[in-house]
Amino acid sequence: MVWQPLMATDDVINAAISAPRIDPDIQIMFSIDHVFKRLAASPFRQRFHLGAKEYRYCQDKGPETVSQHAADFIAKRLAPAEPEQDGKQTPMRGHPVFIAQHATATCCRGCLEKWHHIPAHTAMTPAQQHYAVTVILHWLHQEMQRPAPVAKERKSNKKISDTPDNAQQMNLL
Ligand SMILES: [Zn+2]
Repeated sequence: MVWQPLMATDDVINAAISAPRIDPDIQIMFSIDHVFKRLAASPFRQRFHLGAKEYRYCQDKGPETVSQHAADFIAKRLAPAEPEQDGKQTPMRGHPVFIAQHATATCCRGCLEKWHHIPAHTAMTPAQQHYAVTVILHWLHQEMQRPAPVAKERKSNKKISDTPDNAQQMNLL
């Protein structure tokens, strides 16, 4: 399995119209589509993108592994009724899933309640956890359609005297 764009909204709607009964997968796609439209209207959520490192990590690991990581993070950091350090349990960097969580408002129980109607102060059901992972993966699939971000050049912390040329200059002064 590779990083691929998920079904376009029109395809999902067409499939639902032609389907005799709306199957649960299509329903979840509808609700995810709705959520992503709301997220698109939030400048704060739109700020988040994968950096060069996280992008490469997704490329190297592939969606199955990253999805497993997402499931682990959700189970450990979000699923308990009262997660540890709720509201601060999701770092801003260090794993592509963390960035995806901030981008999709699946970062803490407050955001899950506000954006995804998953009630706080009660353990998340397996279905709710699966939903959160689906949302995260949906965002990551979208991100992986973008060209690889250019790695930021590290600013040199070297002191002026560290480089031979400048050292020489210093001597001349
Ligand atoms: Zn949050």
